[in-house]
Parts: sequence; C-alpha cells; structure tokens
Amino acid sequence: MTTFEGLGLDPRLVQATDALGFKEPTPIQEQAIPVLLSGTKDLVGLAQTGTGKTAAFGLPLLQLIDEGQKHPQALLVCPTRELCMQIVSEIELFKKFMPAIHVIAVYGGTSIGLQIRDLKRGVQIVVATPGRLIDLIERKAINLEQIKYVVLDEADEMLNMGFQDDIEFILQNTPKREATWLFSATMPPEIRRVSKKYMQQPMEITVGKVNTANKSIDHQYYVASAHHRYETLKRIIDFNPGIYGIIFTRTKADAQNIAEKLTREGYDIDALHGDLTQQQRDKVMGEFREKALQLLIATDVAARGIDVKEITHVVNYELPDDLEVYTHRSGRTGRAGSTGICLSIVHSREIGKLRQIERMVQSPFHKLEIPSGKDVCRKQFFHFMDKLLQADISHGDYESYVPMLAEKFADISKEDVLKRVAAMEFDRFLKYYENAEDLNVRERARDYKDSRGDVGGGERRERVPARRDPREPRDARVARDFSGSGTGDFTKLFVNLGTKDGFYKASFLQFILDMSDLRKEVLGRIDMKEMNSWVEVDRKSASQMIRAIDGKNYKGRRIRMNDANSR
Ligand code: ADP
Ligand code: MG
Repeated sequence: MTTFEGLGLDPRLVQATDALGFKEPTPIQEQAIPVLLSGTKDLVGLAQTGTGKTAAFGLPLLQLIDEGQKHPQALLVCPTRELCMQIVSEIELFKKFMPAIHVIAVYGGTSIGLQIRDLKRGVQIVVATPGRLIDLIERKAINLEQIKYVVLDEADEMLNMGFQDDIEFILQNTPKREATWLFSATMPPEIRRVSKKYMQQPMEITVGKVNTANKSIDHQYYVASAHHRYETLKRIIDFNPGIYGIIFTRTKADAQNIAEKLTREGYDIDALHGDLTQQQRDKVMGEFREKALQLLIATDVAARGIDVKEITHVVNYELPDDLEVYTHRSGRTGRAGSTGICLSIVHSREIGKLRQIERMVQSPFHKLEIPSGKDVCRKQFFHFMDKLLQADISHGDYESYVPMLAEKFADISKEDVLKRVAAMEFDRFLKYYENAEDLNVRERARDYKDSRGDVGGGERRERVPARRDPREPRDARVARDFSGSGTGDFTKLFVNLGTKDGFYKASFLQFILDMSDLRKEVLGRIDMKEMNSWVEVDRKSASQMIRAIDGKNYKGRRIRMNDANSR
C-alpha cells in the first residue's frame, strides 16, 4: 500500500494527513505528488471531482515554498469565492504543523482594503478568483514578480465562465513563474490551447476516464410531464426522508421560486444563486454545511466546486443545457469514497438528451417509477419507526415513570400504542397522500390513446382515483396545511429576533406560529438576518401575530414586532 510518507512528503505534512484521517493517497495524489516534489515544472492533472485534487497540489506546494521568505511565492487561481475559501481552509489543515507559512484568500464581493492589508503581512500563498486578482494587480497591491508557482484549479470551469482572458493575463504577469500546474475534471480544447501556449512540455496525468462521472454515483431518472415537475420533486423528497441534497435548476428565478414554495410547504430548504448578496450566500452555505438546512436549491454557477461532505442526493430539477454540466452537478455527491445518487426529473422529450449524457458519463442510468402516495407514506412511516427504535433513552429519568405508564397503558396493546404514535405523527401526511395521483407518464396509456383515438378507460384505470384538478390536489390543503392558500396579499413584519438568538428558519417559523396560534399558510417569505428578521404575513393575520408576539419575552429579551411598512 502506498503511504503519504512513501511519496516523499515532509513529516509535518504526513502528520497533517494523519490528523485529517486520510489513510492513503488517492490515485491523483499518488501520481502527482512525487512528480511535483521532484521538480517537474509543468503539469496537467485530469481527474473527476471529489478525487482529492486539492491535496494533490496543496501538499507538494507547501513543501516547495520557502518558509523563510515572507512574500507571495505561489498563486492559486480558482473560479469562485466559495471554492477559494474552501481551498484555503483545506490548506490551513495541511499546514497545521508548518506555522511559518501563511495563506490568504482574495475574492470579490468583499472589502478589497482588508485584503490589501492582509497581503502585506507576509503571506506566501495567495488563493484568488481571477476577477479580484486582476483588480489587485491593476492597483499594484499584489506583487507577482516573485511568484514561482501558479496553480489553476478547476481550469475547465474557469474557461466555461469566461475567464480565459483573465487567466492569460495572469500567466503573462508572472514573469518569474517556474512551474504551472493545471487541474481540471475535463479537457476541452481551450485548455489544450492554454497549456500549449503557457506551459513547457507539461507532464500529463489522467486518472480514470476523463469526462466520466464517479463510479460511486448511481444515476437515476424519473419521467414526468412538465406540469408535474414540481409535484414530482416533492414526491421524491418525501420518499427520501433522510435526504441531504442539492437541487439544481437552470435559472435563478426557478431556484428562488421553488425554494419559496417549498419553504411555505414546510420543507427545510433555501436557495443559492447569483442574485443574493455575498453575505446571504455565505449564510445559506454555512447553514447547509452545518446541516441546519436539509436541502439547497442552486444554480450551476452558484454551486460550482462546492465540496460538502455526505451529500446523499443531487437532484436535477431539469437537465442542464450543456451536457458537461451534468458531470459537475453529479460530482457534488459520491465524494471521497462514499456513494451518492444523482437523479433527474426529465420530460419524455428529453430522453434522447439523457441517453447522450449516459454515454458521456459511461455508466447506466436507471429509470425509476415516481413513488406513489402509498410508497411515500410507507417510507416515511418506517423512517419514523426506525427513529423511534433508535431514540436515546439512556439519559433522563424514564425509569421512574415506568410504573405510572404501565398503569395508564394497562388496557392497551403494544400494537395500539404504536398505531397511536403513528397517527399523531402521520395523520396529516397520510391524508395528504391518501388520494395522491400517479405522476408517472404511462407509455401504455398513450399507446392506447394512439390506437383508439381517445384516452378511454385505459389511462384512468392506471390512475389512483381520478381528481378534479390534478395540479392542485384538494386533499393537500386539508392535510398538510402548507399549500399557501392564503390570498398572497402579504405585509412585511419586522421582528428583532434572528440567527443570533439561535433560530434557524424552520425553528423560527415554528416559534412564531406557536406563539400566535396561526397556521403556516398565512406566511410568505421569511428573511432571517443575524439580529432581526422580516416575515411576510397575510395582511388579515398580521395584527393577530403582532398582538401575540410584540412585547413578549424571549430568553430575557423583549421582543419587538411591527409592520415594517407602517414604520
Ligand atoms: P476535487 O478537488 O478533486 O474535487 P477535493 O480536493 O475537494 O476533490 O477532495 C474531496 C474530498 O476528499 C475532500 O473532502 C477531501 O478532504 C477528501 N480527501 C482528499 N484526499 C483524501 C484522502 N487521501 N483520503 C481521504 N479523503 C481525502
Ligand atoms: Mg477541487
């Protein structure tokens, strides 16, 4: 077995990999590290997402840096701010036992003044997004004269995002550049061109099949008609109670709208897209990372390069226009040896496109039936029962209640107790799905129609009880209370509670509803900040909410709530 030590790494770096729990190098690390340490100047490393490329260049870079020299020696360029911060925090971990090395992230959307100040403090490694870096170069705030190493991470993404000129500018402005390392998941012709122009006989390392996705990802798809897309998404989420996932949409508007709709329906989700301020994006990402959010809905640009561990599902609300993008999306799951599911909701017209992606990814795609209401209920039910069985009763004084409980439940069977527990937890859920329609597009039904000229009984027999308006299941309102049947005539309330008070969106929502004895359907958007929040409430219910909450105490503090519009 190859070890990090065996690759020729400094003991302090080996120690750091130990501390991180890395047992052995990944293939790209195994191949790239010794080569880079031995002084190979230019390198092109191609490996799929999630294969540990950051360490493949980060570890040798730390070893090659001159710790005694307090000026920028290495420049690491990557496409997004999120990725920039992620790389810096990984490198911080790698250099845990090398305190003399300093690394800094520079990216847009935040004070350039502070970054300029930090740059002057003797950093050796600069991790930057192209835009901000050029800004700094033009202000002469960064000295690239002595940069020896330039690393381009996610090079294909940077080119996709139109950073080609910026990258060339950067490469042209590093006169002392001795080594250029380029890492990428795919090898489009533009990269070939950049490498020809700016690198000298680069060594090329390819791990696995380029352009193919990770084998530990299971690719699944559901065929749904366009007007059932949203309902299908909900069904899939409900069918996977333990889901921790990212949903991709093509547009910012879709991401935002679906997030709002799902939030109103009680799902734990938030959106990540380019229209948010950096601060909002950081907050959403932070919550998702901490698993305070179960679901993230994102556009491709916003979610680029994000490495969050243990993502169980990537959901393509729609297939991406650009086939390559599929690989980037699916690469968010199945990372570092774990397995994941990438599932797509497709229209029957998109099957051809799906087959193309399947060929590109080179692993089989599995068609799944959209779960029926019954399937969903069964799944939720057993998930709940598993949780019940796993409940921790080792703490707390449960024993002392046992005699009393035994007496109280003397005449009820264990089965009945379980049924009652289930009823409490599931009543609304079961009702919601009781008469849920079959969302699957039935080929057979269509054939029937084609041959007979009308739908006839064939399709109807396929469906669970027919309903009046398939787009708006009546039971949904009764059952789940979340369908937002309010008038949509909202007013915005200000409240001086925020995330600082220990709330997340879901717990905050519960808190204000409980306090005011109102139902979820009166709420619109909730916008939480650190110190305060804005809550959209149906105009008719606003005063009831204010009366119930304004002036009350929360953890010793007086709550203020008022109508933001009439302030
Ligand atoms: P890539 O840049 O290739 O997409 P990353 O560098 O982001 O991949 O690594 C993906 C994940 O794998 C990270 O969470 C990282 O900490 C982890 N990882 C990297 N190398 C190893 C290793 N040798 N053993 C275990 N986990 C690793
Ligand atoms: Mg990476």
